[in-house]
Amino acid sequence: MSNLQPVRGTRDILPEEMRRHRVVVDAARAVAARYGYHEMVTPVFEFTEVFKRTLGETSDVVTKEMYTFSISDGEQVTLRPEATAGVARALISGGLSQSLPLKVFYTGPMFRHERPQKGRYRQFHQIDVELLGVAEPQADVEIIALGADILSTLGLGEHTTLELNTLGDPESRKAYRAALVDYFSDHRDRLSADSQDRLVRNPLRILDSKDKGDRALIADAPLFGEYLNQQSKDFFAKVLEGLDLLGIRYTLNDRLVRGLDYYTHTAFEFTTTALGAQGTVLAGGRYDGLVETMGGPSVPGIGWAAGVERLALLLAEAPQAPRPIAVVPVGDAAQPAAMKLTQDLRHAGFVVELGYSGNLKKRMQRANKMNARAALLLGEEELAAGSATLRDLDSGKQELVSLDSLAERLSHLS
Ligand code: ATP
Ligand code: MG
Repeated sequence: MSNLQPVRGTRDILPEEMRRHRVVVDAARAVAARYGYHEMVTPVFEFTEVFKRTLGETSDVVTKEMYTFSISDGEQVTLRPEATAGVARALISGGLSQSLPLKVFYTGPMFRHERPQKGRYRQFHQIDVELLGVAEPQADVEIIALGADILSTLGLGEHTTLELNTLGDPESRKAYRAALVDYFSDHRDRLSADSQDRLVRNPLRILDSKDKGDRALIADAPLFGEYLNQQSKDFFAKVLEGLDLLGIRYTLNDRLVRGLDYYTHTAFEFTTTALGAQGTVLAGGRYDGLVETMGGPSVPGIGWAAGVERLALLLAEAPQAPRPIAVVPVGDAAQPAAMKLTQDLRHAGFVVELGYSGNLKKRMQRANKMNARAALLLGEEELAAGSATLRDLDSGKQELVSLDSLAERLSHLS
């Protein structure tokens, strides 16, 4: 059976890596809760239209990366490539716009058909936060602070840089777009084929191009800052003020864009140099036009998404599994008592492994192999005395402990 391989771009996450994922997701969830964000999930697949409208017909994700299939005549669905679209759809279809602001924490697998490489997969995981219904720059500050807080909780504060830009309000953006079209049209023949296409459909995305020739042209392209109106400048100044107040460091990057028309004002990315071409670990921005674009009410929003695999790769070391207590029955007669003791200790909150079979030596070897902290030996003598022999597997010392005081005694093991 040649097909007993995971599908290209998908992978098994074995326990050691899963512990890394858990550290990332648990930290993010806990920090987000302190900021008042509540967890929700939407379905893994949605009508294709949901993503086409939110991500835009011309985005890379929509044109190249979506997994789409038909569920019935004329009805196409797509595996979610990101979380924001589903949340915005839920806001509209679930009438959640009655109870704004909506503050959401979200985590789960996402699906994109792209070329697999380290830190880039076809099924991957994101954590994601969205804040809907707040137009003030405080929201931008809060959502960025939340991202920074999660990264520093994970010990990644020093390993990541916050890059920041503003795309201004729709008026500024329109003026800038026109200037870009003028500039790139003058150099059209030097643009890559992809960017020539973007020039017609979505010129701002040219700034995002990874093509070398494009990058050379981009270096001399007009700057967003020159096209910002006063309102947009004021808004951005307030965001920066807030970040300064909270001591959050950033680097301004006037080439940082989000390609779609409903993106406004703040755009940001936390990047690292430790992951090669997959350097962006957390990215987001303000998307005030999105809900309306989808056919809902006009609700401002801002959010970000971070790649769990990339963050997990950055963690210094894999967290250890907790060390178990090994219960070791000596002789068949002790079997039932061992099973009962195991269960009682699990109920008391300990991680307990019961040796399933084999002689004493085998079972002790297994206890050592699973890195058990201690073994509890139950033989005839112990049974008669209502006790167990506690062997500390680090020091090798052993003592007889009555079953009644066992939980108390075990709680003192470090
Ligand atoms: P990139 O430029 O790396 O393709 P993107 O702009 O497509 O990223 P977003 O849509 O902003 O990424 O997603 C947010 C985060 O999700 C990224 O910063 C990254 O950490 C993670 N991510 C995106 N695509 C993948 C993928 N295919 N595999 C693993 N992680 C991913
Ligand atoms: Mg991508």
